[in-house]
Amino acid sequence: MLPATAMPTHDSAQLFKQHLGNFMRFDQWLRRLLCSRSRGGRLPSHSTTYKDVFMNETHPPKNAAEHPQSSLPDWLRGPRFAGLPALDATAAPPALSFEFFPPRTEALENQLWACIRRLEPLSPHFVSVTYGAGGSTRERTHQTVTRIVSETSLTPAAHLTCVASTRDEVDEVARRYWDAGIRHIVALRGDVPGGGAYAPHPDGYAYASDLVAGLKRIGDFEISVAAYAETHPDALSPEDDLDNLKRKLDAGATRAITNYFFDTGVYLRFLDRCLAAGITAPIVPGIMPVSNFAQAAKFSAMCGASVPKWLETMFEGTEDDPETRRMVAAAVAAEQVRLLRANGIDQFHFYTLNRPDLTYAIAHILGVRPKAP
Ligand SMILES: Cc1cc2nc3c(=O)[nH]c(=O)nc-3n(C[C@H](O)[C@H](O)[C@H](O)COP(=O)(O)OP(=O)(O)OC[C@H]3O[C@@H](n4cnc5c(N)ncnc54)[C@H](O)[C@@H]3O)c2cc1C
Repeated sequence: MLPATAMPTHDSAQLFKQHLGNFMRFDQWLRRLLCSRSRGGRLPSHSTTYKDVFMNETHPPKNAAEHPQSSLPDWLRGPRFAGLPALDATAAPPALSFEFFPPRTEALENQLWACIRRLEPLSPHFVSVTYGAGGSTRERTHQTVTRIVSETSLTPAAHLTCVASTRDEVDEVARRYWDAGIRHIVALRGDVPGGGAYAPHPDGYAYASDLVAGLKRIGDFEISVAAYAETHPDALSPEDDLDNLKRKLDAGATRAITNYFFDTGVYLRFLDRCLAAGITAPIVPGIMPVSNFAQAAKFSAMCGASVPKWLETMFEGTEDDPETRRMVAAAVAAEQVRLLRANGIDQFHFYTLNRPDLTYAIAHILGVRPKAP
């Protein structure tokens, strides 16, 4: 039952009727005003509607360009898009993996652990921890990975690179991981610290494929490698890059994780090319929920990910509006994962940037629910 104050009273009904009366008088007044100005004072017939008046070509509304008045036939002339299929509630949810970076300060360490604790109930297939340029985070990566093993229910994967290190140094790091019970490595070439052209260390593993083979000699690690739907910037050609991916998988890797991409069609065509090249291992899409467009655009220029104009348009004007930016970010990533899911993809790798909220929401959209502790 409604509380007494919300019940319509005789007075309020009267008031409403009075407002309606005012509105109708306003309607008549506006019609008179518009018509007397546009048609030399002639009144339109009683069937004339506001739309007729406002659509009068001699007096388009001031903001006509911003609010085009198209008709139903106009709407139906263009291409038709069906909606993405609804989530199949009976299908198993996709397998997720989350990527973190090792923290530099105590505050960042707290942020990382809050992120890990928030995402842990989603029971990802694994979580991975990056390795800084040239091994600059060697100890911090190791500490983070071993803490994940000892304090959580998660299965960690440690990233490891070849750049600026001898084979002995890299092997030593790998053995420490094996001894600490870490059985999954993300094997990478890495980039030159501070930028510049890559040259293999004279006593090091030259490329990621060499590292994969070296790791397999140390222990029977599960190994993931990197893939580039838009081709790695150093590759001689897309075909050459694909040959390199195949070499890494033939050397013992069981999955590839892609660099992030915004054009989902590029990734789907890349899968076709992988299959045609004889690759059957999963090429897991790397998803980066963009929350800072300017930063993402800068980073994309360095790692060869193209930034479509539509994405820039989506974020335009949100620079000082973090709340809208986050909603846009969630919408963009949600649309991307739903499209991928509709195309049969059932594994996703999230670049979390140590922030859980967008990843958590997108996982939810994919049908992933937290498990009770
Ligand atoms: C999922 C993912 C995670 C990442 N994590 C990290 C990280 O933790 N730390 C980090 O520093 N970086 C990381 N990176 C970035 C990565 O290190 C760089 O993109 C790097 O430039 C390439 O690494 P790769 O393992 O793909 O190299 P590779 O597979 O070795 O390929 C690098 C380039 O060399 C070419 N190439 C390969 N073999 C040969 C050959 N024999 N002769 C000539 N050319 C050859 C390839 O075509 C390609 O262009 C990551 C990237 C991804 C996608």
